[in-house]
Amino acid sequence: MSFASFYQQSVDDPNTFWANEARRVDWHTPFSKTLDYSRPPFARWFVGGETNLCHNAIDRHLAQRGDQAALIAVSTETNTEKTYSFRELHREVNAMAATMQALGVQRGDRVLIYMPMIAEAVFAMLACARIGAVHSVVFGGFASNSLATRIDDAQPTLIVSADAGSRGGRVVPYKGLLDEAIRLAQHKPAHVLLVDRGLAEMARTDGRDIDYAAARAQHLDAQVPVVWLESNEPSYILYTSGTTGKPKGVQRDVGGYAVALTASMQHVFCGNPGETYFCTSDIGWVVGHSYIVYGPLMAGMATILYEGLPVLPGETPDAGIWWSLVDKYKVTRMFSSPTAIRVLKKHPPEFMSKYDLSSLKSLYLAGEPLDETTSNWISTSLGVPVIDNYWQTESGWPILSIAKGVDDKPTRLGSPGVPLYGYKMHIMNESTGELCGPNEKGVVVIEGPLPPGCMQTVYRDDARFVNTYWSNFPKQVYSTFDWGIRDEDGYYFILGRTDDVINVAGHRLGTREIEESISSHANVSEVAVVGVEDKLKGQVAIAFVIPKKADGVATPEGRQALEAEIMRVVDKQIGAVGRPSRVYFVSLLPKTRSGKLLRRSIQAICEGRDPGDLTTIEDPSSLQQIKAALQS
Ligand code: ATP
Ligand code: MG
Repeated sequence: MSFASFYQQSVDDPNTFWANEARRVDWHTPFSKTLDYSRPPFARWFVGGETNLCHNAIDRHLAQRGDQAALIAVSTETNTEKTYSFRELHREVNAMAATMQALGVQRGDRVLIYMPMIAEAVFAMLACARIGAVHSVVFGGFASNSLATRIDDAQPTLIVSADAGSRGGRVVPYKGLLDEAIRLAQHKPAHVLLVDRGLAEMARTDGRDIDYAAARAQHLDAQVPVVWLESNEPSYILYTSGTTGKPKGVQRDVGGYAVALTASMQHVFCGNPGETYFCTSDIGWVVGHSYIVYGPLMAGMATILYEGLPVLPGETPDAGIWWSLVDKYKVTRMFSSPTAIRVLKKHPPEFMSKYDLSSLKSLYLAGEPLDETTSNWISTSLGVPVIDNYWQTESGWPILSIAKGVDDKPTRLGSPGVPLYGYKMHIMNESTGELCGPNEKGVVVIEGPLPPGCMQTVYRDDARFVNTYWSNFPKQVYSTFDWGIRDEDGYYFILGRTDDVINVAGHRLGTREIEESISSHANVSEVAVVGVEDKLKGQVAIAFVIPKKADGVATPEGRQALEAEIMRVVDKQIGAVGRPSRVYFVSLLPKTRSGKLLRRSIQAICEGRDPGDLTTIEDPSSLQQIKAALQS
């Protein structure tokens, strides 16, 4: 079938379309109604159906593929590597589930998971799913304040954590941060379950803190029955990356998510049972939830959980670790982010070519705009197609992409693709709310109902869900808060976030457009553009550039010359309105832990304001660099 007719069916008759897709999932009780949209914008999918994410990820595979690899946990931090078959994974998840139950966790209770990228984190997520507890995974490495806010929001009965994580060989103790977070939080969990990796000392609170090794030993042969959940019961809470402000607690359902993920594994990711999937994200992000843990396992694939840096530090840094895993585990589909690929790109190509990558069929990239240079470089180096996909924590699975599992529609450079089945999308004029025509810029919006898998609501805050996402236009539509255009052929292009727009003397420009233009200069590795207040023009663009060759900007003359060249590039490509009034050079840009540019913080510093909520920043020293550059 052509993608066009597949898509058309999904939006013309969502009931038939999704009822059909729902057959990919095991239902304990069949649903009585495919969609209930009687209370827009709240969509209820597969009403009355009972299922369970853990059952679909593990139990259903036991008969046919119990001995096949399910979870491959690799750590270059502790130099460990362990493969769990579906049967072994089942055993571990049962032990964890029994432990949770013994600690009083019941259906509907929240369990906060604050863990490094170790197998026990996955066991904990799946154990929650098994017993109907709602997990809230908080990215390991968030400090006490961020953690405390999330503890108060989720009010967990139990927190699962570990002594420490590790980053580039440096131990990052977790327990102290956790204790401090619990002290700061109003809500106190009844118990804290601790995995002791032997990396760092931990203080323990008697009666509250439980050692997992001891608990596991007690429950190793436990058989914990799956708790069948109505499709619309919550499965988890997950916070958005916090790029544009205060993170939002996204609440996800059970049945819709199971259907959406299994469908995407087929239509978008083309994964087959028995193959190995490798997603380089972190379980603390939505990509990790959907495509490290639930998606591949539900599809009967083995999934790689990788703890470590993409480039191993040392005298000669090793940028080949991921490709060695592709080789060793015969990975067929891989998922990563443009940021990660840009890091690899700084290293010589031999680090890839020495491995046998013939098993790999495609590479999926998501999370931020994929520039053409990076896309071409990685596609040529690997010899496989690169498939961009655009989505959000809110959606849970891709919104725009090319569904290679449906037909062979070509990708288009610079575009993440076309609306995927189920998403009724438009480009909407920001001020009038009218629909934009081809190549007209506007806000990317989705008409309700959102398809299965998308957020149900903001956790415990229905009003915030409606007010934040659905109240920006005269017509009730879901705003993605991203700018975009659609070309004549229906391909979408994402032009940046709606907050990242600058107004130069009445011209509205996406900072992303200017960044793209600057990126095309041969000596530009990365760039961030922000709009800064200007008495004369309203706003002006200021650019912060990481040069490829630092020696070029070692002297004031060198900096001036490169600045002038960059300005000329923008003049030529966008016009003088887009020309940054200044170009500064730095070696690091402020990003969130998930690799997104924190333009709002850069802007605040440029305007002499407080950089705002920095809970999700990767490396605070990047802000010092911005300050120093401004003073240079
Ligand atoms: P917050 O909503 O808290 O500000 P966030 O939007 O960064 O944080 P995420 O849900 O992790 O949190 O990121 C989704 C956003 O990432 C999208 O709205 C879009 O701006 C960007 N994005 C994701 N994938 C792509 C892509 N393939 N191309 C361009 N942009 C992308
Ligand atoms: Mg967002």
